[in-house]
Amino acid sequence: MKFVFLGTSDTGGIPLHNCTCDVCQEAREHKISNRSTCAYLELEDGSIVLFDAGYDLLCDKFNTHTIRAVFLTHFHADHCLGLIRLRKSESKIECYTPQDTQGFGDLFLHKDSINYSMLQPFETLEIANISVTAVPLMHSKPTVGYLIQTPQKKVAYLTDCACIPEESCVFLKRAKIDHLFLDACYEPNYANTKHLNWESATKYIDDIGADKGYLVHASCKTLVPLKESGKILKYPYISQGFCVEV
Ligand SMILES: [Zn+2]
Ligand SMILES: [Zn+2]
Ligand SMILES: [Zn+2]
Repeated sequence: MKFVFLGTSDTGGIPLHNCTCDVCQEAREHKISNRSTCAYLELEDGSIVLFDAGYDLLCDKFNTHTIRAVFLTHFHADHCLGLIRLRKSESKIECYTPQDTQGFGDLFLHKDSINYSMLQPFETLEIANISVTAVPLMHSKPTVGYLIQTPQKKVAYLTDCACIPEESCVFLKRAKIDHLFLDACYEPNYANTKHLNWESATKYIDDIGADKGYLVHASCKTLVPLKESGKILKYPYISQGFCVEV
C-alpha cells in the first residue's frame, strides 16, 4: 500500500499566483502545480482514505473511487475546501475531525452526503487493516495530526502546528514511527506563532525519533531563502506526488 501526497504546500501553493521567484518559475517550466497539503492511502479493495481534503481536484482524481473516510486535521480552507464538492457525492462519506463545532463556511449547515464525527484526543479508528489515531497539535484552530498504522509501517501525518504538546510527543515517541511528515511552513527568521519552521520541525523529528522525517506545508517564500542559503537540511521538503510504501 502506498501513502501518497496530492500536495505538500501551504494555501497559495507553488507556483504562487503572479510570483516570479526562481522556485515558482522553475515549477512553471516543469508544469508542476503543488497546492495544499493533502495525502491518501489506497486500500487493497481500491477504496481511498484521505488525510485532509484541500486538494482542488479531489473530485476529478477520485471520481469513481469509493472514499472510505476523510481524516481532517482542522477546518482551515487549505485543508477542507475539497469537501465543498465532495458533499454532493452520490455516496455517503465519513469525515473525522478534531473537536471543532464551527467547522468551515457552510459545511456544517449543508452537510449533504458527508457525515462528520469529532474525534477525542488519541481516539483510534480501525478501517480495513489500518488504524488511525488522532494526535492533538497546537495551531490557531482545534487541530490534530494522525498516526496511521498499517500491518507493515507506522506513519505520522502532522501538518499545521506551532508546537506538539508534551503528551502527543510522548505518544509519538512510544509509537516508534517509520515515516514522520511535519509542518515546516516557514524559514527560521520569519517570526510566526502558528506554524513550525525548518529548524523547530527538525528538532521535533529528532526528539520523536522517527526512522525517516520529511517537511511539508512550505511556500516559495520559505523555499527561496533555503535555496539561496545553499543549506542542505537533515530532513527534506517533499513535493506533490511524493509517496512511501507502507
Ligand atoms: Zn514564488
Ligand atoms: Zn491551518
Ligand atoms: Zn494549512
